[in-house]
Amino acid sequence: MARKPIMAGNWKMNIDHVEATGLVEKLHYTLVDREWDPAKSEAVLCVPFTDLRTVRTLIDGDRLHFGLGAQDVSAHDNGAYTGEISTAMLSKLGVGYVIVGHSERREYHGETDEIVNAKATKALSAGLTPIICVGEGLDVRKAGQHVEHTLAQVRGALAGLTAEQVASLVIAYEPIWAIGTGEVATAADAQEVCGAIRKEVAALYDEPTAEAVRIQYGGSVKSGNVAEIMGQPDIDGALVGGASLKPEEFAAIVCFY
Ligand code: PEP
Repeated sequence: MARKPIMAGNWKMNIDHVEATGLVEKLHYTLVDREWDPAKSEAVLCVPFTDLRTVRTLIDGDRLHFGLGAQDVSAHDNGAYTGEISTAMLSKLGVGYVIVGHSERREYHGETDEIVNAKATKALSAGLTPIICVGEGLDVRKAGQHVEHTLAQVRGALAGLTAEQVASLVIAYEPIWAIGTGEVATAADAQEVCGAIRKEVAALYDEPTAEAVRIQYGGSVKSGNVAEIMGQPDIDGALVGGASLKPEEFAAIVCFY
């Protein structure tokens, strides 16, 4: 079965819940103008926790075809974890996706592969789809270790998950040196690693699981480079930071086909 392209916007720590209303509505009208066909691509908005309620209400009220995602989740069920948000809290708000292991969480919050694995496992058991981020820094790329480094993160993130769970989730390959820098991996660079991830999933599980899992590329994706990136056989979508804050840009990315 063909994998449906998935474009996820990661707003990061931008846009408060009041500003979110304007952005979501502008995005919606821009997509209407572009005659977006939601059967051809999926659009997910990964917004700050404080925006989730507002964006959920907009999606429901206007029957918008956007998926709703959070940018992180706790690996714990509940209890004395000040400041954390549980999978149950997200599910109750109608959140369907959660970014796990973004390089900024790994770098600034010390998230290890074990933590990423625990969060992804918890998300899946609550019915949320994790978007698991992996990818190398510039030093690793320069040393030619980018494929092995990224595959080790994939193995760590997927440890203990069933084939059925893996088939349902999303893996985002994001070379750190290309995030927010304007520096884009070439389409061939992105395909090299995304293809290697799919082969690794086949080796860890089986061919049907590898064929089903969706793999995104992330790192300075814009309207001008999305078509080439999406032309690669193992790239099924994009995780988009900066350009997701610009409705025209994000709409063009969603309508890449
Ligand atoms: C990201 O933060 O996941 C990302 C890919 O950012 P940008 O598109 O701005 O490079």
